[in-house]
Amino acid sequence: MRTKIAGLLCEIEQFEISTKDQLETFRLKYLSKKGLIPSLFNDFKDVAANERKEMGMLMNDLKNQAQAILDKFQDSFTTPEGNETQIDTSLPAQDLSGARHPISIVRREINSIFQRLGFIISEGPEIEDDFHNFTALNFPEEHPARDMQDTFFISKNPDIALRTHTSSVQVRVMEQGKLPIRIIAPGRVFRNEAISARAHCIFHQIEGLYIDKQVSFADLKQTLYYFAQEFFGPETKIRFRPSYFPFTETSAEMDVSCNICGGSGCNICKHSGWVEILGCGMVDPNVLDACGIDSKVYTGFAFGMGIERITMMKFQINDLRLFFENDLRFLKQFESAV
Ligand SMILES: [Zn+2]
Repeated sequence: MRTKIAGLLCEIEQFEISTKDQLETFRLKYLSKKGLIPSLFNDFKDVAANERKEMGMLMNDLKNQAQAILDKFQDSFTTPEGNETQIDTSLPAQDLSGARHPISIVRREINSIFQRLGFIISEGPEIEDDFHNFTALNFPEEHPARDMQDTFFISKNPDIALRTHTSSVQVRVMEQGKLPIRIIAPGRVFRNEAISARAHCIFHQIEGLYIDKQVSFADLKQTLYYFAQEFFGPETKIRFRPSYFPFTETSAEMDVSCNICGGSGCNICKHSGWVEILGCGMVDPNVLDACGIDSKVYTGFAFGMGIERITMMKFQINDLRLFFENDLRFLKQFESAV
């Protein structure tokens, strides 16, 4: 009996437990009703009377030891809230050092403002076909944006290109036909432009789309007014100027009062007191129809802005190329930003 107890004690101490399954095997083998330890207790009746006291103590020690092992591992497989810990070892390590890129800081802030208004985030592919990037958005065949000079084509016939705007995501959402639609689509876009302080061949946009019955231009203005005040501050004014985009009718560009000089004029606003930040308009009925939405029943508005431009305004950055150079002297300045 004594040898048996010592053997079991040795066994349970060396039992390998690194998963929940192994822990369950351990429990079944040693502690369940038919396990080795309870069956040892059944044999207790055969122990000689003068040894009972000592054997009893040894057996209790063994049982307590096994129970302690079980409890210890059960705790380690369970979070304090009682949920199972799911450790995904394929996830990248959480890096708490460093700073977010200024583009990410601004994208996250814009996302959160529109999310508070009930917009949800949609994403789509960066490589697009002609239909989603141009045709469905009412770009005429001869529109210059289709030209090789503006678009990075991957293949011709069928035309496959790097998307030139995130409006392609809007088309994909409209095609799904789940109405109403209230989305924002942040993402990278590509245009074949010479790189300078004010332009780059890769940049980031956020576009918004709201489609429902009786959506009006007043809804568009109020939404963007809310955004401007949340992002640039409560003193911010906005103004709309008529414009043209193939996919909206009526189309407008929106300016905000310069948040650097407060409207009195500075270099950033070219002494006008206003800075253009986005294009917007009512979704052209042709676009709705091309995406299978009845334009007689539904209306909608769309808007789009370049994240680089707004980031340059927010942080008073005067050269767009800094965003892409990974110069630590530049990036480290954003460590304190959220
Ligand atoms: Zn100014």
